[in-house]
Amino acid sequence: MTSGATVTQSTVTKKQTAVTVPFVDLKAQYEAIRSEVRAAIDRVLERGDFILGDAVRQFEAEFTAFCGVKFAIGVSSGTEAIRLALEACGAQEGEVITVANTYVGTVEAIVQAKATPVLVDVSPKNYNMDLDCLERAITPKTRAIIPVHLYGQPVDMDPLLEIARRHKLIVIEDACQAHGARYKGRRAGSLADMGCFSFYPSKNLGAYGDGGLITTDNPEYASKLNLLRNHGEKVKYEHVIQGSTSRLDTLQAAILRIKLARLDGWNALRRSHAQYYTQELKKLGIAGPIEEPWAESVYHLYVITVPDREALRRYLSQQGIQSGIHYPIPIHKQQAFSGIDSAGAGFSVAENLAEQIISLPMFAELEGSQIARVVESIGRFYGRI
Ligand SMILES: *Cc1c(COP(=O)(O)O)cnc(C)c1O
Repeated sequence: MTSGATVTQSTVTKKQTAVTVPFVDLKAQYEAIRSEVRAAIDRVLERGDFILGDAVRQFEAEFTAFCGVKFAIGVSSGTEAIRLALEACGAQEGEVITVANTYVGTVEAIVQAKATPVLVDVSPKNYNMDLDCLERAITPKTRAIIPVHLYGQPVDMDPLLEIARRHKLIVIEDACQAHGARYKGRRAGSLADMGCFSFYPSKNLGAYGDGGLITTDNPEYASKLNLLRNHGEKVKYEHVIQGSTSRLDTLQAAILRIKLARLDGWNALRRSHAQYYTQELKKLGIAGPIEEPWAESVYHLYVITVPDREALRRYLSQQGIQSGIHYPIPIHKQQAFSGIDSAGAGFSVAENLAEQIISLPMFAELEGSQIARVVESIGRFYGRI
């Protein structure tokens, strides 16, 4: 909107509700780290090492320490992390099993790696991969499993890894929503053959642009990933394999270093917001998400299931409260993936969830009064207060 007239007109014709509780607030976080971020960006600009520069190496080293792994390889996005991980372990030409209710990037990466995605349904209890469905989906062609730690809660990895061992399958964690989450005390990303992270701006650890990273303890995967992300270049202009332009930007790495140092604190705030939501919703007879005994979730998203979801969203929006749906259309119902292999099974859980889930505002800087406002509005909508 450029002219004053347009602004006035739209104010008159459309009743605009001021946002009182945003879904996320990236600016609030920026304000807390502004001077550090600006200094870090300036350092990169002065050094001029924009490609695989000093900050990338330092961020990778810090991320290995954070996760408790031997290697971290910074790449250009979470989707690219998954694609490269699949290529590094030679999963091409085989089948790769993941869930129907994930972000589309998980499945795009499988297709781009020239493997065949096979989807399975999820548990109605924790919305993560149903391990019985997984077991039934395994065929002689299966090469890898990609469990997704959805909403920040780790999948039950021990039984999953036992199934994988029995069938000699590689396991790649999609930890794109689970930076810092723990499974039985260990970090997401340190639990399987490789872990994939996204630094999309609104993730728990977000860049100011796109970015991603792969974690592993396997030196062969690490050196292959180092080549793949950078045109297969071993020494300058010597290309030993075919790779791509898939590196993490030095500028983004410099920003991510500042944020990584604060991630545990931000995640602790998210956890306490989740606790408050759950406690207050319980008073209305509404169940919060279940945190499994093995899991320390980092609540990338706070998701509940409700009846009459669309009407609730409209009501919240009228109160200035933003909400989301993650995700409204399961992968097998997406036009882009019509005809995808469902391993002969249905996706009744994922399909039902898609109709009922709502993601409530969640970010570290969220205030208690805002949470109270969201819960109160939900209570009013259902006539419980
Ligand atoms: C964000 C996300 C991705 C993709 O990450 P990008 O950086 O956007 O490519 C993949 N899987 C899941 C579960 C995600 O949430």
